[in-house]
Amino acid sequence: MSKNPSHTKNFSANGRWRAPRAVLLLASAIGASIAGTVILILGTLVSRIQRLLFLQNQPRSLNQTEEELLRGVFDDSLALDNIRIIEGRSGLFGVNSRPFTLGNTIYMKAYTAPEILVHECVHVWQYQHFGPRYAAEALGAQLLLGDSAYNWKAELARGKSEWSEFNKEAQAQMIQEIWMQRNSSAAHQHDELAAATLKSLRTRKNTRPSRSL
Ligand SMILES: [Zn+2]
Repeated sequence: MSKNPSHTKNFSANGRWRAPRAVLLLASAIGASIAGTVILILGTLVSRIQRLLFLQNQPRSLNQTEEELLRGVFDDSLALDNIRIIEGRSGLFGVNSRPFTLGNTIYMKAYTAPEILVHECVHVWQYQHFGPRYAAEALGAQLLLGDSAYNWKAELARGKSEWSEFNKEAQAQMIQEIWMQRNSSAAHQHDELAAATLKSLRTRKNTRPSRSL
């Protein structure tokens, strides 16, 4: 009797059953969704308490300059009206100086540079399009890969070929860098990938723009 490859491929050399890749991907997506939801619920709770105790500054909407800039990057794929910015004091979220995005709220801390806003808005985009799991996946990438999580070229070296396959920090960093190099006359080594990336970012229909916890 010939071996049926579809039957044997889920067994390791010692005969143990191995979950098919699709099952593992589904399990990790569900795990990330649960972890991300917990992060967002706890974060929102901390934020509310901090606001009551005046430990963090009040949120504001985007100004016109920011809206124009972001529309140039994201087109209509990002619901700008939902975004809130908190500058300066951020209470517990200020334990490190890095900007931080919690759902539709961006804690800019001491940063004012537009490229940082672009980076953080990619995380808002991830949230608006895929839900809370982005938070667990971005945090997971930072814990697992350290600073190299931000290096999207390292993602290419790791065998990922498209922006959508990159880890969540590499995704944000790549859009940030494309925006920073938009006026550069120097030939971009990854022009084709950059064009495909912007297309997939801008044309993905945002079916849940108002998602909130
Ligand atoms: Zn980031």
